[in-house]
Amino acid sequence: MDSLNITNGDIILEFIYLLAALLFVVGLKLLSSPESARRGNMWAGAGMIMAMIATMVLHRDGVGNTIKGGNLVIILGAIALGGVIGGVIARKIKMTAMPQLVSFFNATGGAASALVALIEFSNPDNQSILVTLLGLVIGSIAFSGSMIAYGKLNGNIKDIFSKWMTYINLLILAGVVLIVVLLLTSGMPAESKQILVYVLLAVSLVYGVSFVMPIGGADMPVVISLLNSFTGIAAAMAGFIYQNQAMILGGIFVGAAGTILTLLMCKAMNRSLINVIIGSFGGGGTAADREKGIVKEVSATDAAVMLNYSKKVVIVPGYGLAVAQAQHICSEMDELLEANGVEVKYAIHPVAGRMPGHMNVLLAEADVPYEKLVEMDEINPDMPKTDVVVVIGANDVVNPAALDDPSSPIYGMPIIMVHEAKNVIIMKRGMGKGYAAIENYLFYADNTRMLFGHAKDSLQKLVTEIKAL
Ligand code: NDP
Repeated sequence: MDSLNITNGDIILEFIYLLAALLFVVGLKLLSSPESARRGNMWAGAGMIMAMIATMVLHRDGVGNTIKGGNLVIILGAIALGGVIGGVIARKIKMTAMPQLVSFFNATGGAASALVALIEFSNPDNQSILVTLLGLVIGSIAFSGSMIAYGKLNGNIKDIFSKWMTYINLLILAGVVLIVVLLLTSGMPAESKQILVYVLLAVSLVYGVSFVMPIGGADMPVVISLLNSFTGIAAAMAGFIYQNQAMILGGIFVGAAGTILTLLMCKAMNRSLINVIIGSFGGGGTAADREKGIVKEVSATDAAVMLNYSKKVVIVPGYGLAVAQAQHICSEMDELLEANGVEVKYAIHPVAGRMPGHMNVLLAEADVPYEKLVEMDEINPDMPKTDVVVVIGANDVVNPAALDDPSSPIYGMPIIMVHEAKNVIIMKRGMGKGYAAIENYLFYADNTRMLFGHAKDSLQKLVTEIKAL
């Protein structure tokens, strides 16, 4: 644009990009609370639509031409096709399959940025080859890594762990760096560079697979948010290639938010970021076999009495609550207990469920007041003073193996210390394992009682019993 006369159209376009960026910021801000998150999505989406329309109408290429009619038809066709497919999937998807969907959409974002970089690498006008190559590498890793995460969340792909994985990953990374350096510095002919750039694409795709493949079950959330930030960074790189402010800013927002979330997740899971990047953390360990003890069941009638005559009750929601869609009946039980003078709080583990913030969203759906949701670190000191903890469809996030079994794959992960409460009632269908697929000795503890059944049915029974008291 430097070599062209700046027209009013160019100024308006830049102004619209700035406005779009402001809407992204407003959207992000509103996304920070479940109550305003829906509006946040709308504002940010409006910003993106504005930026897209403005680009189609006002953008000019290096010689001053706006987008040709034929290309516009292709662009609008692609938007319509993508919009219809995305809309249908988003409407049909079950809430519990949302994490897989997010991973899949994340993969498509990475793929789009990688394709932009692949095409623009051979564009003679491209002044930012380093940025292009970085966009190709990061976008490809985000694509293949997110597809593996999608398969793992769907249950189609199992962890593959080998102690060599870290070395293999380091080797592949070294290969990526070597190819990038060669492409930047060697005087090889353009055709050879073109071949090498495809090799770079392939090696980056392999790295995405090899770094996500061995990640142990309970550590997946960290990787998912890291892949999210990769997609944002790759989109920002694509924005640099096209000198498009809206793309740069949008990508940076996603990249920065994803990076902050990754760091918070690392802290919450007591893991280091470097371990995540070279992979194979949290995988492979096999928990030690111990004496199991006896499983003690409790009837809904007895559980209702225990709850109703307690002073302090803490509910620990987990993935099973989401699967059972039992949030509304859970909130009804909470209201009944509160009306009978019981103090009820919810203990929220940062990785409970299958996506960051899953439990917050779920409980917000049932209008549980936000003040009743207490973060893990804040509620743990209260556990010994709690009369009854009700664990509803949670497993890994309350597994004491994370504290006392160094051979366990979840060792070191902070948990909600429900075992310290006076009484624990665990609601689940059977003795099934959690996402990390390991035994939970909490189920055999002296102060634990199991209330077996589908969470929604069990909660319905509890509500009926409490009403009858
Ligand atoms: P878990 O996956 O550990 O356990 C869920 C439990 O719910 C199961 O043991 C199952 O037992 C029970 N359950 C399933 N369906 C029902 C039902 N209908 N009614 C009652 N119980 C049911 O859940 P947590 O929330 O404790 O832990 C989340 C796990 O997922 C962690 O390991 C986390 O790292 C991982 N993860 C989290 C992500 C995130 O971003 N939050 C992303 C990816 C992974 P049973 O079959 O016996 O009923």
